[in-house]
Amino acid sequence: MSAGEWRRDAGCVDSDPETFFPVSYRREHLVRPARRICGRCRVRAACLADVMATEDPARRWGVYGGTTPDERAALHRAGLTIAPASTLGGGVA
Ligand code: SF4
Repeated sequence: MSAGEWRRDAGCVDSDPETFFPVSYRREHLVRPARRICGRCRVRAACLADVMATEDPARRWGVYGGTTPDERAALHRAGLTIAPASTLGGGVA
């Protein structure tokens, strides 16, 4: 899978982008619609891997892979590293 190829199967492709950028990430009822879409997404793991590998830690924004910016920051602080989807063999679902 080449870099970004997984995006063709993104579960959010037909969703309102604003769903993934709520006015507050700390109000679960505002984040829940995006989490629901991500929860059904076939490429959630690849999406999360890519955002973890590429986003600027000082400018985290948006719900990706079902996670909020604060949740991804916590994953980074915990030392979690996820290989970018482009480095994984075969498909990622
Ligand atoms: S995990 Fe969520 S943000 Fe990522 S591609 Fe799927 S639906 Fe979109």
